[in-house]
Amino acid sequence: MVADHKEASKKEENEKNDNILTSTRTVIKDALDKLGYPDEVYELLKDSLRILKVRIPVRMDDGSIKVFTGYRAQHNDAVGPTKGGVRFHPNVNEDEVNALAIWMSIKAGIVDLPYGGGKGGIICDPREMSFRELESLSRGYIRAISQFVGPTKDIPAPDVFTNSQIMAWMMDEYSRIDEFNNPGFITGKPIVLGGSHGRESATAKGVTICIEEAARKRELDLKGSRIVVQGFGNAGSFLAKFLHEAGAKVVGISDAYGALHDPEGLDIDYLLDRRDSFGTVTTLFHNTISNKELLELDCDILVPAAIGNQITADNAHKIKAGIIVEAANGPTTMEATKILNERGKLLVPDVLASSGGITVSYFEWVQNNQGYYWTEEEVEERLHEVMTKSFDTIYHTAQTRRVNMRLAAYMVGVRKMAEASRYRGWV
Ligand code: GLU
Repeated sequence: MVADHKEASKKEENEKNDNILTSTRTVIKDALDKLGYPDEVYELLKDSLRILKVRIPVRMDDGSIKVFTGYRAQHNDAVGPTKGGVRFHPNVNEDEVNALAIWMSIKAGIVDLPYGGGKGGIICDPREMSFRELESLSRGYIRAISQFVGPTKDIPAPDVFTNSQIMAWMMDEYSRIDEFNNPGFITGKPIVLGGSHGRESATAKGVTICIEEAARKRELDLKGSRIVVQGFGNAGSFLAKFLHEAGAKVVGISDAYGALHDPEGLDIDYLLDRRDSFGTVTTLFHNTISNKELLELDCDILVPAAIGNQITADNAHKIKAGIIVEAANGPTTMEATKILNERGKLLVPDVLASSGGITVSYFEWVQNNQGYYWTEEEVEERLHEVMTKSFDTIYHTAQTRRVNMRLAAYMVGVRKMAEASRYRGWV
């Protein structure tokens, strides 16, 4: 029975990843076709150039040895070194890491960074591991991939369930192997180890800037507008804070266990104070609603900031928000994108909305390479400039080429990489 259940959920997971990879490829193909590139460019870009699978033995607190599986994918390095986060999650698998690396290439292209996309992951549940076990796992992963990555090759960063402490252990391990201090090897570090001001909240800042721009296009005053944020992790919690500070009414939030709703606006300061490090807060309340109900709430702006495949053909026609800004990776399926566009919604795609993280990671890497550090204001100002410019370019592309915002984003994001691959003589 248990085995059956496991098999079924594994099958479901494979189908989901197949969808992520298939739908990403479909949009890349459409974007390359619109830009007039021949098929061989698509043949190159539809997959990662390299994917490394590693096995990481870790001595657990009970004395036993557990062997974990990890991956690192490098999608395309024609433009520059590959870049992207490392996630610690039970559902990590090769196809997902592959698709996420492709997305990182598109994000880097959108914000015009000298990078290609990369992504890593370890199959584990950090919520059930001690600090010591997590440190051993982080260091073991770096030992396993050290030949494959590096400050001018492939630069890791935080992602789902990884944070600045994990980046610090990874940087320390790499520096030991390399025999000198190498802060530019990884981004998202604590400030005292060469991290950048504003990196921790960068994804949420970038999403906030996209929300402001989208509201402006729809002539919606952010002050007093009603916003629903799905997810209360790194992106979702900072986002709720920024929107609350901007005078918006955050009427709904959620975590993996449920959602909270108050049409008058939730007490965000209280919720931020009570959340745990994995973003859990709804377990403290009785009067919760489901994540499904949350998405269909009456509001002006909906921000899915949790996991993938949340807005599907089943609920897309029930979404009431006029603006949807994707802070998570892949929250809306292809069919749902089509339905929302037909219903006249303004959908700001993930590859644009969530690119604040990699942008400030780039700033961190630049500061590490120069050994000269910027103030928080300088980081914010530059991030603002990059995000507004990228939003405008994509909005303009969507209008002039008569395509939806997702396809426009892919057209902008894929171009530099396709061009660079051609100049290098790869295709
Ligand atoms: N993991 C983040 C993302 O998916 C950030 C990557 C980075 O900072 O390199 O965009």
